[in-house]
Amino acid sequence: MREIVVLSGGVGGARFTRALRDALAGEDARIRVIVNTADDMWMAGLRICPDLDSVTYTLAGVNDEQRGWGRIGESERVSAELHEWGIGWPWFTLGDLDLGMHIARTSLLREGTPLSSVVARLTARWDLGARLLPMTDDAVETHVVTDGGTMHFQEWWTRHRASVPARGFELRGADDAVPAPGVVEAIAGADVVLVAPSNPIVSIGPIIAVGGIRDALTATPAPVVGVSPIIGGSVVRGMADACLTAVGTATDAAAVGLRYGARAAGGVIDGWLVDEVDADAVPGLEAAGIATRSVPLWMSEPAAAQTLARDALALAGSV
Ligand code: GDP
Ligand code: CA
Repeated sequence: MREIVVLSGGVGGARFTRALRDALAGEDARIRVIVNTADDMWMAGLRICPDLDSVTYTLAGVNDEQRGWGRIGESERVSAELHEWGIGWPWFTLGDLDLGMHIARTSLLREGTPLSSVVARLTARWDLGARLLPMTDDAVETHVVTDGGTMHFQEWWTRHRASVPARGFELRGADDAVPAPGVVEAIAGADVVLVAPSNPIVSIGPIIAVGGIRDALTATPAPVVGVSPIIGGSVVRGMADACLTAVGTATDAAAVGLRYGARAAGGVIDGWLVDEVDADAVPGLEAAGIATRSVPLWMSEPAAAQTLARDALALAGSV
């Protein structure tokens, strides 16, 4: 059985993981997805885990593909009621079905169930074709440093649409966090580790920052291959450029690959996929010790996304 591990944020990682699963249909392979939890927060007494839920809904086929987040066929009656009372954040609306997930999760957490067990229990409802592992059971929260002070990542991202210049990010709790059960073992026992085209700073960055995960990536005998979320100097969706700018990294496929760095030189990847429009970045990345191929990176429709997943596996097979 081929053991494949994916490091993932929310929507970009979810689409990539779904394509990987579908590309491997019928093969003897097992996919485990290590998901960022640093966007998680408490709101209206509920624990919200945006990236875990994006991956869950997308793999379950119940996500809202048009809107890009949340559940399909949503209503928002409960959020409207909460807003009337001034409970929660007025700029943050959650769908009713989505709230069902948050209530279920919070009730289990309040009984003392660790997040990784909660995820196992709640995802068992669907045949996801992949097992989801939160990066940690501990609380890690990304806070954004601005000239006016710090704010929770969600406030910066959702309320301000990343328009307030960020000076940096604080990963609160990361130093004391330990990987969730199974995370280090999955990486150590993998045949392939794939870094999804997720936000390198606030999605993949926190995963790697959890003590022990970077070491597991450095030590695994498996090839580690990443997919650029940047195509032709632009983000495909979202505002990852604002995150990259904040940490002084160019919004550029080569710069992101070099930021991850070659494992042979103390980094975390062996291979990197850039888009065809970024083919001129290949020699520089190769010179830095990162095996690089340029292939179509747009997950515009399922077939293209599955080809991308196969390209990532092929590169892993060649490094
Ligand atoms: P979030 O947690 O929901 O923000 O999602 P992720 O961190 O997993 O992914 C966000 C990143 O996915 C963004 O930086 C996008 O540029 C990238 N992305 C979205 N769609 C595509 C695509 O079709 N191809 C590639 N290569 N990247 C994509
Ligand atoms: Ca996220």
